[in-house]
Amino acid sequence: MTRIALIAHDDEKPEMIDFVESHQSYLSTVDIVCTGTTGQRIAEATGLEVERKQSGPLGGDMEIGAEAANDRVDGVVFLRDPLTAQPHEPDISALLRICDVHDTPLATTRTSAEYVLEGLARQDGYELD
Ligand code: PGA
Repeated sequence: MTRIALIAHDDEKPEMIDFVESHQSYLSTVDIVCTGTTGQRIAEATGLEVERKQSGPLGGDMEIGAEAANDRVDGVVFLRDPLTAQPHEPDISALLRICDVHDTPLATTRTSAEYVLEGLARQDGYELD
């Protein structure tokens, strides 16, 4: 089953909720893994079942990076806040890097997330709305 990681920094969480809500029917057919707070917010807002790792600053990005290192995720949507310094910047860089190493489709903005999701959906034979 297609497995997609969803992560959003605090300022980007409303955007992530909007993204998930607008693709809820497709996303209900895939495995979703999230960092802790992002996953909690998505589950509360949409009722989707999500697997929650640690919160990002507590190691969640690294847990998702470990999945990418083992080719367990098919795509990563990581809505980063480009204007705020993050205490766990090294973990964020490591996740982005390991996605590059494994050629894991990675989106860090809403528009690129739309394209990545469309590609994954097409692979699954699913037409996005
Ligand atoms: P959070 O972590 O979903 O637990 O807020 C995201 C992050 O800061 O990387």
